[in-house]
Amino acid sequence: MVNTMNVHSKTYKVGDVTITRVTEQVINLAPEVLLPDWNPAVVQEHQDWLVPGCMDETHEHFILSIHTWVVKTQRHTILIDTASGNDKERPLNPIFHHLQLPYLERLEAAGVTPEAVDYVLLTHLHVDHVGWNTRLVDGRWVPTFPNAKYVFPKVEQDYYSSPASHNDVNIPSLGVYEDSVLPVIEAGLTETISSGGGEFIDGLSFLPTPGHSIGHMSISLTSRGEEALFSGDVMHHPIQVYRPEWNSVFCEFADQARASRLWALEYAAQRGATFFSTHFPKSSAGLVTRKGDQFDWRFI
Ligand SMILES: [Zn+2]
Repeated sequence: MVNTMNVHSKTYKVGDVTITRVTEQVINLAPEVLLPDWNPAVVQEHQDWLVPGCMDETHEHFILSIHTWVVKTQRHTILIDTASGNDKERPLNPIFHHLQLPYLERLEAAGVTPEAVDYVLLTHLHVDHVGWNTRLVDGRWVPTFPNAKYVFPKVEQDYYSSPASHNDVNIPSLGVYEDSVLPVIEAGLTETISSGGGEFIDGLSFLPTPGHSIGHMSISLTSRGEEALFSGDVMHHPIQVYRPEWNSVFCEFADQARASRLWALEYAAQRGATFFSTHFPKSSAGLVTRKGDQFDWRFI
């Protein structure tokens, strides 16, 4: 299932800020599983950029990345989303179950020790975005980044802290709140963002993009007139730039997810913001442009 690892990524500059990806894992998933509206005819239309980097030669699998973006501003070291984590009990899903991956070693290779992290920003609280919030030490889940403030939308906390939130779509995230979010709350390391979003620190703002999950937010970074958009899971694969009406199987609120995807595409295109995705393969980053009444994507 696991592809050849592309862990060596470039460092982007947005104004005074540097942005580097730290990969946790690269996975394969059948297109019709990820995107229930999948139509294989689009492969012909987009073959030139889709295969092999975004889809394998057999056309049977999408290639997807799960990673963290490391953002270094003049004053702070910030992580955006923390992938799946090691040692987690996820018996329903082998992609996340009992992982033993050298994520912290890769983070260190990118120049970041756990102690040096000032902020962990989370777009939402699904299984593949909060895993490294904690690690297993002597049978207990403890914060991986002991000096960090963990920051996330309050609506997400309110929802996933209740068993009433469990549904067929978020089954992969069962138990995630308890082992990866609650321990950092109990350690007093969290701060929440209210439902309207807004500026947080260092030109970083939370922008509500609900739908994939109930309180999902994208994160904008502006520095010296340049902008980055960390889009969380408004899209999972670049083919959705061309088919923004296609939700992923993991999108909990379908109509809102479609509306937020269109909003994020329009936002990035209009503002020329570099788009940093959480699951696109290859560099995971690129530019969105308008092409008539559609959008176009280019990896950078
Ligand atoms: Zn995700």
